[in-house]
Order: sequence, then C-alpha cells, then structure tokens
Amino acid sequence: MKFTTISWAIHTFNPWWGCVKVSPACANCYAASLSKRVGHKVWGKKAKRRLLTENNWKDPVRWNKEAEARGQRARVFCASMADVFEDHPDVIEERRRLWKLIEATPWLDWLLLTKRPENIMTMVPWGDEFPDNVWIGVTAENQDCADLRIPILLDVPAKVSFLSCEPLLGPIDLNPFISEGDDPGIHWVIAGGESGGNSRPTSPNLFTDLRDQCAANDVAFHFKQWGNWAPIELLPKPPRTKVVIDGFTMGRADKEVTGRILDGQIWDEVPEARATTLTH
Ligand code: SF4
Repeated sequence: MKFTTISWAIHTFNPWWGCVKVSPACANCYAASLSKRVGHKVWGKKAKRRLLTENNWKDPVRWNKEAEARGQRARVFCASMADVFEDHPDVIEERRRLWKLIEATPWLDWLLLTKRPENIMTMVPWGDEFPDNVWIGVTAENQDCADLRIPILLDVPAKVSFLSCEPLLGPIDLNPFISEGDDPGIHWVIAGGESGGNSRPTSPNLFTDLRDQCAANDVAFHFKQWGNWAPIELLPKPPRTKVVIDGFTMGRADKEVTGRILDGQIWDEVPEARATTLTH
C-alpha cells in the first residue's frame, strides 16, 4: 500500500505534474525542484504538463477498496506535484477524470489544496452539491494571501474547508473570517515551516498564535513540521543559526531532526468527525 509521508493525509495522488509559481509560498516550491531534478520540464505557463499512467489512476480505486474493507475512511492529498485548479490546456481532460474518480471513491476524503481558489467553482461539476468526500483548502502563507483567498474559500460549499499555512511567512489574523455560531466556516488549519536549500525560518510565535486562534474558535489545528529551521533549544548540536524578527534564535537542521513538537507537544488535530456532520 502506498502511504504518504505527509502527516495530515494517508495517501498522495497526483493527476499530473507541473505548475506555475503564483505566490510568495511558491518561491522554493519543492515540486518544481524535484521535477527539474528528475528531468521533467513541466514548470511555467508554456511548458507541457506531465500526464501520468493508467496505473497511477488505479491507485485510488484500490485505496478506496482497502478503506472500505477496513471500515475506516482514508484521506488523500491531491496534488503534491501540481495545483488541481491551475488553468492549463493540457489538464482539462485529466481534471474531468479526477472529478469522476472522486465520485467513484466515497471511502476516500479528497483534500484539494489550491492557491487558485478563484477557479474552483468554474472547474468543478458539482455546483452547490459538493460530494461529502471533498475537502477544499487554500494556502494562506501571510495575511495578504489569507485576505485574498479565504473569502473565496468560504463561498465554496464543501463540507470541510481548510487552510494550509505552510510555509508560514507572516502573522495571520483569522478572526475576520471565522463565522459566529456552531460552524466556524474554517474547519482545519495545517501549519508548518519551510524545508529545502533556501528555506526561510518562521518564528514559533506565528505558529502558537495560529494555534491559539484555532483553539478559541473550535478549529482543528495540525502542526505539520518545523521544516529546516527550528528553535535552537529543540536541536541537539549547535547548528547554523538565524535570529528571526521577534528575537527567537532558530537553528538549521534536517527535517527529521527538527521534528513536529510545538510548545512541548505534537498537534495532530483533524476535523474527521465534521466530514459527516457539518453543513454550510
Ligand atoms: S502552486 Fe504549489 S505546485 Fe504550483 S508552484 Fe506554487 S507551490 Fe509549487
């Protein structure tokens, strides 16, 4: 069975490879670097996208059967090597195929994360009736991106709406977007630091501030990783260091060393129960 190493999903599915950088979070896009490293020129507006094999498309069908046999739903992150809502002529048919696959795999919860939420409602075939197994997320790496993308996300009638604040590049105030009443509108925040050669350190204060906002508003919070920079006290040897804007000294180390402990614990909350209970 293929399991993803991403802590917030069990599987990763890529309908194609390739994209265009559109946001500060894209600056060190690992998918662009990986594609280049393995010889695929699929980044940029004019580049062809890499379409994948029939076997790739069969994986989710198998995962769905396995989840049904276990009696336990499985989350699928789609996509790690592309943006599902990118407007590129090569992927129109693949995207149609993806919607059918999602409908045919009700034991899988599909996590569709995008930096292009303005395309969601014109690209999905579901109108106001999204399948229960579609979770829609937007990247919000700083307040500007949050202000731009969250209002669009909140108008999408998915059962679960989430934010990916990774790499978190600045403070984010969620309060303007949280609805009053039983349903906060945003159901899940996944936060993390950046990894890779040019990664940028994030102050722990930005993460704990997001966590506190989530706790105050009944929003699930998941701390995915420090990435390649963590507070120096979490690291075993004196590494290369950088002082971030609010005075924290961050050390550079491998992701396996920096880990996922924030403020003394692992934050692994997932809005699983909400998938079948919430309505917008
Ligand atoms: S949208 Fe995602 S996949 Fe596309 S360039 Fe940005 S980070 Fe990479």
